[in-house]
Amino acid sequence: MSSLFPALTAGGPDDDDRPALRFGDRALTYGGLRSAAAAVVPRLAGAGRVAVWATPSPETCVAVVAALLAGVPAVPLNPRTGERELTHIVGDSAPALVLAAPGDELPAPLAGLPRVDVTADAPDGAAAGGPLPAEPDPGAPALVVYTSGTTGPPKGAVLPRRALATTLDALADAWAWTADDVLVHALPLFHVHGLVLGVLGPLRRGGAVRHLGRFTTDGVARALADGGTMLFGVPTMYHRIAEALAPSGSPTANGSPGGGDAPSGGTDAAPGTGSDPRGTDAAPGAGGATLARALAGARLLVSGSAALPLPDHERITAATGRRVVERYGMTETLMNTSVRPGAEPERPGSVGTPLPGVELRLVLDDGTPVTAYDGETIGEVQVRGPHLFTEYLNRPDATAAAFDGDWFRTGDMAVRDADGSVRLVGRRATDLIKSGGFKIGAGEIENALLAHPAVREAAVTGEPDPDLGERVVAWVVATDPGAPPPAAELADHVAAQLAPHKRPRAVRYLDALPRNDMGKVLKRALHG
Ligand code: ATP
Ligand code: MG
Repeated sequence: MSSLFPALTAGGPDDDDRPALRFGDRALTYGGLRSAAAAVVPRLAGAGRVAVWATPSPETCVAVVAALLAGVPAVPLNPRTGERELTHIVGDSAPALVLAAPGDELPAPLAGLPRVDVTADAPDGAAAGGPLPAEPDPGAPALVVYTSGTTGPPKGAVLPRRALATTLDALADAWAWTADDVLVHALPLFHVHGLVLGVLGPLRRGGAVRHLGRFTTDGVARALADGGTMLFGVPTMYHRIAEALAPSGSPTANGSPGGGDAPSGGTDAAPGTGSDPRGTDAAPGAGGATLARALAGARLLVSGSAALPLPDHERITAATGRRVVERYGMTETLMNTSVRPGAEPERPGSVGTPLPGVELRLVLDDGTPVTAYDGETIGEVQVRGPHLFTEYLNRPDATAAAFDGDWFRTGDMAVRDADGSVRLVGRRATDLIKSGGFKIGAGEIENALLAHPAVREAAVTGEPDPDLGERVVAWVVATDPGAPPPAAELADHVAAQLAPHKRPRAVRYLDALPRNDMGKVLKRALHG
């Protein structure tokens, strides 16, 4: 296999001076990144796996690149993980050592591991540490990434080098991603989205990453105005952007169908060492025109990791003229589908068509694949191709259960339109409600609720019901917690927008939805 990172490993004056990474005022060129990583490589010789304390920093990037150059699988750790989960992950992945920045304080579960400090400042003289090892086999493990833990304890997905190369090249094809692109990044670096797409993606192309450390809409506006060409984000970020562009009550907000949805930017700030996609802005709406201009000037705005609510799509498009591109992926599969910018009919809610190299099918409950796509028949998404993980670490049972031959069962349910584009309905485990003989997807009810002006956040689940099998339950955060909308009004609103059988039978009010570090709603915590 040719090199995963040609601009990094080949070197030469053209590549060496190219900007690679910038975190605030700390910048690394390709030459600097290679030297910094090469200085770490000899320390990793003979290790089976190494943990990386994955703060949003250049040291994390150097550590992961060093492990990839050394051919030693890296296990990125979320610095915000609680001790219990961290103990599980460290025990499960059994790293030989942990890579961290010199100043980082490591918690108790890592105390027993040898520590290797990583500096992002290039040592004097190129190629410190001598020649790099030969490129490993494409099937060799590159990373062990733990799933987000949305539906259960996180599982360690073993990702081969082939999967990284396949997915990044497929995205380059779909998004016309080149060495000239500068990615504006504010995601954490311990998951596929922020690490594989957000850091390894630009490095494979020979382009640049500009990481904001912490997400703010002002930071995004500044970085895009200052040469950034692409933005990758999770839905909670685009929600903040929508709110900054068109705060509730503004003419733009009122003029767009979802405009009444009015979350506040200030309720769920979470301090910590990680880059927090839920980070807040001081004043929602401040600098909206500047932000709109900056977004309109970007080449590509991409959302993924969870569904982007339709009202947010609509508000952003109304204010910027731009459509946010959704792509669909998983830790285990890297990227499966993406909307092709500009190449398809406008269809918010679609996650696009399979990427090059990805085979995708929908399978009915009885195991038969759907053969004619009609936009209505719901099946489980199954995928196969060179982009897949090889196994869950130490979990042969879970690995075997996740495959039907060489098809990986994603656990996500979807419909496909006649042109092959995929619309996700939700996860089989938590988002598919079987009520009164109907199969109902939680997502469309959530979108309908969010379009109600008095609803700030919404999640929909199923609950056992003697009559219906399951009944639809809505969990709602009110725009004004002092005056929550009556349950009957919300139920009527959903029934009028969708269909009577999708009417929530119960509405429960919360101060905030439980979310994980990627901003994903933890539905298993709702029924507590
Ligand atoms: P766990 O597997 O531990 O329960 P998780 O599934 O949330 O956690 P990830 O691998 O980070 O862990 O997330 C993959 C899931 O995220 C997908 O299976 C899908 O349900 C969801 N997802 C990703 N992209 C999108 C998208 N564009 N729209 C809707 N859902 C998405
Ligand atoms: Mg999952």
